[in-house]
Amino acid sequence: MYTNLNLLLRKISTLILLFCCNLLFSQDNNVFTVVLDAGHGGIDPGNTGNGYYEKKIALNIALQVGRELNKDPSFKVVYTRTKDVKIDLFKRADIANKAKANLFISIHCDSHTSNAYGVGTFVLGLHANERNFQIAKKENSVIFLEENYTQKYDGFDPDNPESVISLVLMQEEYLDQSINAANFIQDSFVKNLKRKNRNVKQAGFIVLKYTYMPSVLIETGFLTNKTEGKYLNSKKGQKEMSNSIADAIIKYKKSISNTSVELSSNYDIENSTINTYLKIQIASGSKFLPLKSYNFKGLSRLSYSKRGKNYKYYFENTENYEKAKQYLLKAKSAGFKDAIIVAFNNGKRISIDDFFTINSN
Ligand SMILES: [Zn+2]
Repeated sequence: MYTNLNLLLRKISTLILLFCCNLLFSQDNNVFTVVLDAGHGGIDPGNTGNGYYEKKIALNIALQVGRELNKDPSFKVVYTRTKDVKIDLFKRADIANKAKANLFISIHCDSHTSNAYGVGTFVLGLHANERNFQIAKKENSVIFLEENYTQKYDGFDPDNPESVISLVLMQEEYLDQSINAANFIQDSFVKNLKRKNRNVKQAGFIVLKYTYMPSVLIETGFLTNKTEGKYLNSKKGQKEMSNSIADAIIKYKKSISNTSVELSSNYDIENSTINTYLKIQIASGSKFLPLKSYNFKGLSRLSYSKRGKNYKYYFENTENYEKAKQYLLKAKSAGFKDAIIVAFNNGKRISIDDFFTINSN
């Protein structure tokens, strides 16, 4: 019995060791892989507002973003297409998954019967309104050109707004990071290029559903708008948009490789000018848990940080130590017996002593 147990333990430890080695060597942590997906292509021109071709503009921008990123050897760029060919939506996601990409970016141009203009960045989610549904519907309808699309997309019907609900579940794990990336991109367009801001939004884009990584879709502007169509079709416009996207990707990468930076919270921090604050650390582990009350014994106002493969989960946010002590009691009585007060400065973890030193100055 004793030797059997010993053998078993040895087997288990070998397995654990193999598993850890696998984790260590399966990916090069220094390389950040970005998949650039130029929308449409081949027999699918995308929209052709004012006679401009979405498929051509999207490809030019994707290729230029890639050229920019390739100047930095820590990036690996993978394209879903580099030529004027049609690629199924499913295949695009597959390319990204096989590349074990860190980020997936799909590039498109919008169209509308009105004079609408401006740039918007999307992450996968339920369409908040009819307009978002119409945009997703247009981008999804390309599956009608594909063979066996009902099988490939689990019976998904681009014409049915309800159909999208089945889309959102898989990407949920990456939602926070997708929104984070989308914010960098949208900010870059608005701040650097003064483009009209159509904001970061959620809608049911098929191409974002099947990827296992943070994923965004950029509607770079409206070809149907005379001025914007001309801009997007011009060398200058494409160069500006590409630089802007590349710039945002670089910033996004920096933000997540700065391991102690807080990644996300499920509430707005009231006063974002406060740089030094306290939180209650309630849990940690290698598993990502969506920031929902039901995952955290009913507590709300949650946030998390990620360092390597380890997540830390926090409750509340305050600059006041007395309040933090009250929150700590609340967390403990909710069942987080090992909860502790932790301090941050500019998103970086600091000691409680440093918190008092900074605050006394
Ligand atoms: Zn498109």
